[in-house]
Amino acid sequence: MVNPVCARIIKVIPRTYNVKSIRAAVDGPMEFKAGQFLRIKLNNDKNLQRYLSISNSPTEKGYLEFTKKITDSDFSAAFSILKPGDMVSIEYPYGAFTLERAAERIAFISGGIGITPIRSMCKFAADKNLNLDIALLYANNSVRDIAFREDFEAMQREYSNLRVIHVLCEKDTEFSCIVGRINPDIIKKEVPDYLERFFFLCGPPSMVEAMKGLLAKELGVPLGNIITENFQGYQ
Ligand SMILES: Cc1cc2nc3c(=O)[nH]c(=O)nc-3n(C[C@H](O)[C@H](O)[C@H](O)COP(=O)(O)OP(=O)(O)OC[C@H]3O[C@@H](n4cnc5c(N)ncnc54)[C@H](O)[C@@H]3O)c2cc1C
Repeated sequence: MVNPVCARIIKVIPRTYNVKSIRAAVDGPMEFKAGQFLRIKLNNDKNLQRYLSISNSPTEKGYLEFTKKITDSDFSAAFSILKPGDMVSIEYPYGAFTLERAAERIAFISGGIGITPIRSMCKFAADKNLNLDIALLYANNSVRDIAFREDFEAMQREYSNLRVIHVLCEKDTEFSCIVGRINPDIIKKEVPDYLERFFFLCGPPSMVEAMKGLLAKELGVPLGNIITENFQGYQ
């Protein structure tokens, strides 16, 4: 059981037209592993709460960052007007979607906002210059949906062990990407050593299930090499 603590909002960062990051600080050390999540309760009369992944890395000290896709829910409405100085209640850390579960070669597969814990793990690996080989297949509808795009570009410049492959449904002539949906051919081409990698899958449950089935049934990846995080609440 994790006790709730009060956290003060210190910064709000728009990531895309419908994704927003919020940074909050609590008193004392903020200990968590890259990839873990928290429960946030908004201190308002509706008592709204959600699970959100921690999108910063433990190497980025002094705050906890969580990043929400803004929908038309009451929670999203209350979340999107949070401002520096506001207080929220959080419980953390939770979860085992963490790097300790993998070996040296990793493939991350993210659907949309499922990037948040993966961003945390990639940043941790980059800051620590970990001896890993990371391929990230990052699926989105269009370029404007890519959260943390510049962030990943900077990470790739500084940490050559990270390779990001964008997979978009909509073609964009000015952006280097694969057009379509992640399928076995894309994985075989972009991650040819897929049988030797640990896969981390994160996103809406339907996407995670589809990717797990594709990897295990069509590509023969052992189930023990597939680690998943389901963002319950998205289709
Ligand atoms: C471990 C974990 C980490 C997550 N990390 C993130 C993150 O980093 N960023 C992010 O944007 N979202 C994350 N989510 C999803 C998030 O908790 C919300 O469910 C999601 O954002 C939808 O909430 P909403 O208020 O936008 O929409 P809503 O309209 O409230 O939710 C859409 C539908 O989902 C249902 N629902 C909401 N929460 C749950 C739940 N926990 N279980 C089952 N059904 C539910 C609602 O009843 C509704 O029918 C995470 C979820 C989990 C479990």
